[in-house]
Amino acid sequence: MKTCHLINIKNFFRIAVWAICFCLAFAQGASASNVIKDIRLGNQNDGVRIVLDGSEKFAYDAFLLGNPSRLVIDLKDAVWQNAPKVSKNNIISGFRAADLSQGKKGKRLVFELKNNANIKRKFMLEPQAGQKNWRLVLDLSTSGTVQPSKAPVIKTQARPSPQKRKKIVVLDPGHGGKDPGAIGRSFKTYEKNITLSMGQELKRQLEAKGFKVYMTRSTDIFIPLRKRVAIARSYHADLFISLHADSTLNRKAQGLSIYTLSENASDKEAEALAERENKADIIDGMDFSDNSPEINDVLISLSQNDSRNKSSKFAGYVVNEMKQRVKLVSNAHKFAGFAVLKAPDIPSVLVELGYLSNYSEEKFLRQPAYRKKLGEAITKAVMRYFNDPEVASAL
Ligand SMILES: [Zn+2]
Repeated sequence: MKTCHLINIKNFFRIAVWAICFCLAFAQGASASNVIKDIRLGNQNDGVRIVLDGSEKFAYDAFLLGNPSRLVIDLKDAVWQNAPKVSKNNIISGFRAADLSQGKKGKRLVFELKNNANIKRKFMLEPQAGQKNWRLVLDLSTSGTVQPSKAPVIKTQARPSPQKRKKIVVLDPGHGGKDPGAIGRSFKTYEKNITLSMGQELKRQLEAKGFKVYMTRSTDIFIPLRKRVAIARSYHADLFISLHADSTLNRKAQGLSIYTLSENASDKEAEALAERENKADIIDGMDFSDNSPEINDVLISLSQNDSRNKSSKFAGYVVNEMKQRVKLVSNAHKFAGFAVLKAPDIPSVLVELGYLSNYSEEKFLRQPAYRKKLGEAITKAVMRYFNDPEVASAL
């Protein structure tokens, strides 16, 4: 009897709450809906990040279904600003969107998956300073799941469709004009001349392999570091390679090294080197003013992570190719905060071709035949990089 009474009270409250919600929904009309403004994907190491931009806090449900494998995101009370579009990648093979069924107000998103995946994390971000959107972020991971068949991905890599656009590589010969860079100890070679000759050689070789190549400079002129990044972005570079040669007090130091971006330098020497190279002009942080206002912090960090992973991947290929041909410093792939590596959306590396403070390395770097050899290694690394299934599928 007492239980019955309780249930009745509960039911009464439930009805009352529903009635209030119903009235509120009507009173507010369409403005109560979450207007979905955009759906964005960002590749990650082991999966993909899906970001939805909405006008309100998301009421959602996200879950996986099998046979065929797919991710479903139900968005309650959601409406589209524009019909959503999602491009395919190495994980997502298809996408569709529809209204929620059974008279529920809202939308259902279905992402068809090539392989099984896990929802690694999902969370909501409230509007950050300077923008109004709420964001739902969902990370889909394929690691640790069974991958039934990789064949389709590999097949498309092996035979890229002819209408695919040429990959764009921007080469950045370091220094120039009033900034000579390092100066060789034995032959007084200017770094700016070595980097330019190396850039021209590499350009020839890459073009011969079908890449579209631009240089930040092709003459002896001074270009501020930020401008070099801006040039790479204006060409929509798929890959940015900055060329340098180092110098140090230790005359015995020799070997090639390759750097990718990190806020924390991998060692003291890397830090000192970044400081030397960055001195070419005064850097006051990355400027995103030429980006559209929709670009927000998540997008930037997304793309930075993605670019950083790709940069490291490319650096790995360069090290592999180089070590078969020339001397490398130990742990040749290093990390440092070089200003020219800070484009958030372009995989970027900086190659220190060798030490101008070392007698034999300075002598070698002056020789076209030696630069040709270095160029062959980098060209091979570029080809391997763009053929990497993970990189190729994301382009
Ligand atoms: Zn330099």
